[in-house]
Amino acid sequence: MRTAKLESDDWVNGFLFVANRPILDFLNTRPVLAQEPTELLTDVHALERWLIASGIVHSPKMKGQLRSWRHSPEAALFLKDLLAFRERLRDAVLRLEAGSAPSDEFIQEVNDGLLKHPLAATLRKRDGGIIREPFFEFKRPSDLWTPFYNGVSDLISDPETQRIRRCEACVVHFFDTSKKGSRRWCSMNICGNRLKVAAYQRRKRDGHNSSPGCAGIVSAT
Ligand SMILES: [Zn+2]
Repeated sequence: MRTAKLESDDWVNGFLFVANRPILDFLNTRPVLAQEPTELLTDVHALERWLIASGIVHSPKMKGQLRSWRHSPEAALFLKDLLAFRERLRDAVLRLEAGSAPSDEFIQEVNDGLLKHPLAATLRKRDGGIIREPFFEFKRPSDLWTPFYNGVSDLISDPETQRIRRCEACVVHFFDTSKKGSRRWCSMNICGNRLKVAAYQRRKRDGHNSSPGCAGIVSAT
């Protein structure tokens, strides 16, 4: 039951989307499930599903291109490099969360990546106005670097990097977009309720009589 609830609220097609930034959702593709770090991007097909679930890839043409790479050795090599990059990104994010800056090597790596994989833009009419959207063209698997390098550069140059935070109860990272900037958990369904219930049970055990203050939390445990 609980799994079904999580699927509907925080998971899309087997991936967690709670971070408010696709690049942090990407970082969260190696969560700790059942006590063990679990790789969700297990192969190129899984990456294809993640790129679609994240909304980065949406056009039928791009989806078709991704599908054609499922068994491509070049795409497999790209995925291997991408997962190694994800762990270097993890180090950069942990540094930011600790109030420090990413390493010079990491910034240089992203700079090199931005030069090699610049982000194009396209204009489109919508609702009587004109909007500017990122434009990706995937001719070869290495073109997939574009959204990742650009997502990282947007994240680490954000004026509010103090809003990049790790859940107080698990390994999931997120960008706090709450008004007060006081978000503490990856998700109320996953960790928030669990911690509230634990605190409630602790208070009860200690003889206090306070309420957990959130309807329905017992059913979520
Ligand atoms: Zn959590």
